[in-house]
Amino acid sequence: MQLSNDFEKVRDLAKKTMALMQERGIRQTPPNYAIWYEYIQESNPNLTRAVNEALAKNGKFTEKIGAELYDRFFTREQESKAVEETSRLVQQSMDSMMGDLTRTNNDISSYGEQLHDFATRAEGLDGVELQAVIDQIITQTHSVSDNTRSLQNGLESASREIADLKRRLQFVQKEAYTDSLTGIANRKSFDEYLAKMIAETKESGTTLCLIIADIDHFKQFNDIHGHTFGDQVIKLVAATLSKGIDHRAMAARYGGEEFGIILPDTPISDAVNLANDLRMAISAKKLVKRSTKTEVGKITMSFGVTSYARPEDAIGIINRADKALYEAKKTGRNCVKHLRPII
Ligand code: GH3
Ligand code: MG
Ligand code: MG
Repeated sequence: MQLSNDFEKVRDLAKKTMALMQERGIRQTPPNYAIWYEYIQESNPNLTRAVNEALAKNGKFTEKIGAELYDRFFTREQESKAVEETSRLVQQSMDSMMGDLTRTNNDISSYGEQLHDFATRAEGLDGVELQAVIDQIITQTHSVSDNTRSLQNGLESASREIADLKRRLQFVQKEAYTDSLTGIANRKSFDEYLAKMIAETKESGTTLCLIIADIDHFKQFNDIHGHTFGDQVIKLVAATLSKGIDHRAMAARYGGEEFGIILPDTPISDAVNLANDLRMAISAKKLVKRSTKTEVGKITMSFGVTSYARPEDAIGIINRADKALYEAKKTGRNCVKHLRPII
């Protein structure tokens, strides 16, 4: 996350992004800009890797590569495509089911008419003629019952299909709200939950707190032990944070090695105590390198805590939590700092 006083840095990143795009002859479209801004910021290692690989393979950044990467990394787009595709398939299933129903309805009403016809014709028939009529009824009944069975099969397979589509839709929606590395809530989840909790807090007048936590000297883990080990550290931190909070709170991966914890209905003193508990739980973890089975130091984290003040929006509370985090970094890291809103 950008620290609030890092406005310069954001502007600098934007300038760098545009300069790099110009230098490489990349068209300055919004999707291309989104990709290259993230690339310059190094905030999404998977995207960085994918861009580098695509460049190494193709030599230059084509329209096609841009479109593919945008599709892959900007989940809002992906999600809406999946929803569109799923509702199209559900519609198709429903149409085919309705077709079956109409066909069978027509069969059944014509069967009824024929029965009526047989009944009128049966009066005054001799044995042989009656036998012929009965044979016709039997044939007709078989055909209607075959059709009904096939309708039933059709209905069963359509309802299976719909249940399957529903599961797929739930899956993509869950994916869109989950961070793929750690399995905890992602930035999109965080933003939406924070906005929701701010709205609720405005109504209820209770206290909403926010913690922003950042791993100390994380770059060193990557530099000394490699990126995969760095990923393991992020996963361990995510698991420890989400285990340490209750069900109404949300722990989300806010950015690379930064986490946001939203605490509805929580006084700031409790939020500070919780941040300290989490800080100790993290620093108590033993880091073992799988390949050598050796212990490789400890993880520490810095925490910034604040509470919500009406009528500010999400940016207001995030910036203050960020400022508190910056204080924690400045005071030597592995500590918790809090800032009360100025009312
Ligand atoms: P500080 O104590 O000031 O926070 O120092 P730091 O080294 O943690 O901070 P800095 O922001 O300089 O470094 C963060 C690094 O995290 C940079 C980036 O390459 C790395 N990073 C971001 N996301 C990931 C990820 O998903 N996996 C791995 N392995 N590294 C990541
Ligand atoms: Mg950071
Ligand atoms: Mg850090």
